[in-house]
Amino acid sequence: MTELWCWRCQQEMPMLDEDEWPEMAAALRRGIRNIKARRQATGASLAEVTEGDKLQAQYAEALDLYERLTGYRETNPLALHHHRVSIYGPPCQTCGKPLRTPQAKLCAACGARRAA
Ligand SMILES: [Zn+2]
Ligand SMILES: [Zn+2]
Repeated sequence: MTELWCWRCQQEMPMLDEDEWPEMAAALRRGIRNIKARRQATGASLAEVTEGDKLQAQYAEALDLYERLTGYRETNPLALHHHRVSIYGPPCQTCGKPLRTPQAKLCAACGARRAA
């Protein structure tokens, strides 16, 4: 786990490293499968099975795993998909925030050009 500035959450968040990610990816897939199974069993719409805290219930395994790995209790399961170190670039040499993608040439926070 690595603490990194998250562009979407607008704060420092615990991000998973590549050795932690496969377990999380599997837990997230099971969350998606839970939602599909629930819809097939009940004929409910996507909105009906994910409204309010139902979404958290479907992704309980992924949320529990995230807490176990990071010590942080996330409440929005959808945020887990982007809390992965490898989808960001290295820290900007001017402001220290991670570049938004591994390929980014400019820092989106301060506009600095990426160091060669
Ligand atoms: Zn985030
Ligand atoms: Zn910067």
